Amino acid sequence: MREGLSNIGYIVASVLFILSLAGLSRQESARRGNALGIVGMLIALLATAIREDFSGYGMLMAALVPGAIIGGVLARRVQMTAMPQLVAILHSFVGAAAVLVGLSTYLGPGHPLSAAERNIHLAEIFIGICIGAITFTGSVIAFAKLQGLMSGKPLMLPARHLLNLMMLVVTFALGVWFFREWEHGGLWPLLIAIAVTGVLGAHSVMAIGGADMPVVVSMLNSYSGWAAAAAGFMLNNDLLIITGALVGSSGAILSYIMCRGMNRSIASVILGGFGATEGSAPSGASPQGEVRSIDLAAAAERLREAKSIVIVPGYGLAVAQAQHALSDVVKKLRERGAKVRFAIHPVAGRLPGHMNVLLAEADIPYDIVLEMEEINDDMPETDLVLVIGANDIVNPSAYEDPNSPIAGMPVIEVWKAGTVIVMKRGMASGYAGIDNPLFFRPNTQLLFGDAKKTVEGLRNELGA
Ligand code: NDP
Repeated sequence: MREGLSNIGYIVASVLFILSLAGLSRQESARRGNALGIVGMLIALLATAIREDFSGYGMLMAALVPGAIIGGVLARRVQMTAMPQLVAILHSFVGAAAVLVGLSTYLGPGHPLSAAERNIHLAEIFIGICIGAITFTGSVIAFAKLQGLMSGKPLMLPARHLLNLMMLVVTFALGVWFFREWEHGGLWPLLIAIAVTGVLGAHSVMAIGGADMPVVVSMLNSYSGWAAAAAGFMLNNDLLIITGALVGSSGAILSYIMCRGMNRSIASVILGGFGATEGSAPSGASPQGEVRSIDLAAAAERLREAKSIVIVPGYGLAVAQAQHALSDVVKKLRERGAKVRFAIHPVAGRLPGHMNVLLAEADIPYDIVLEMEEINDDMPETDLVLVIGANDIVNPSAYEDPNSPIAGMPVIEVWKAGTVIVMKRGMASGYAGIDNPLFFRPNTQLLFGDAKKTVEGLRNELGA
């Protein structure tokens, strides 16, 4: 009876997870998707706890209660801009869990199995542990880079691809050793494999340049899903297999979409060394020229005159928390009859969907928020582009400087518009740490200041 109920719970939870993912794919339904995921997870927990073979209630509570409290507090406190770090460290927990589940499954008493079943079980343990170790160390390094504890520069060891390949070959050999000696001496190859794949995970992420971290976070998301699925196989838990596969495949699809958006190949991400080409000269000479600044009153005047306006938000908007004031500015401009739209780059900000979340929070209508490829062609007919706290995603070097670290990355072609007003505090570079020739273009003007103050200033000027 309890087993039957639990199985029904697993099916319901799986369906809710799928509906949750479907909901999360669109801004309008994202809240509902999130709620469905939470309900699914509660059902999953209950369905696991009522199973006949489940006895560790004390242990469950000891893990669940502090875990839920810590998770709840962290989620409430974390700034949107620090979300990638949080996601990265959470992925590392999934990796560590897969390693621990693998070790305990190997060391535990186990059930009698046929030779074929045993081989499959051993493969589950070995593969699960290796994916878990890669996920764990890779995520810890991603966390350290995003948190600024480590430099964002790629670590370019000589012959690093060969090094990675050798680690893979050694891991394969350890797998063979593990299969041969599983009955008595299997712990050693397992422990050595954890160390080798741990170094592989750390090295792969260290080799990736800061500007490409969004793809890494999404790849690690995928790895953590596969690690969870492997743990599901080891524990014979169907729901964990399904959930892991959903996370693994959705993370892989997101990574693919992001790679395509940045004109990179997914193979180069997996192999590391992403975002910097070995031996290539540093980016060309710094762009030179005159910077034209503009004051608030003149910028507001330009906005009043413009009939079609595109706003490009970036990381600076998120840091300054200027989205609510911006929402008022957009309302005022639309009331005056201007056509106002937003252009969202897939990696604007510091995590996928960062800008969409900010704009939704400020009640900006979804129908004026467009993706980069939906709006890029309209740039030549746009009177004015307002770039707010964005830099790398509007950098023409991506097209014009083959030596640029972001060469080939699609960007929002703001320079094709009539006038570009860039709002930022000074002449600092963006996340990729490179110069931006946009600031020196004849049709660009810089409105200096903290985005919140300048957007509020524009709101006041427009209200007058
Ligand atoms: P960038 O980091 O390129 O540029 C942000 C700009 O905002 C800076 O030049 C800064 O200039 C300005 N700024 C910072 N604070 C303020 C403020 N308070 N007020 C006004 N301006 C401010 O951001 P983009 O959004 O253009 O590009 C995102 C970058 O982040 C890409 O390189 C992407 O690869 C990377 N990234 C993206 C992730 C994602 O998932 N989306 C994850 C990790 C990295 P100044 O200091 O002069 O004001």
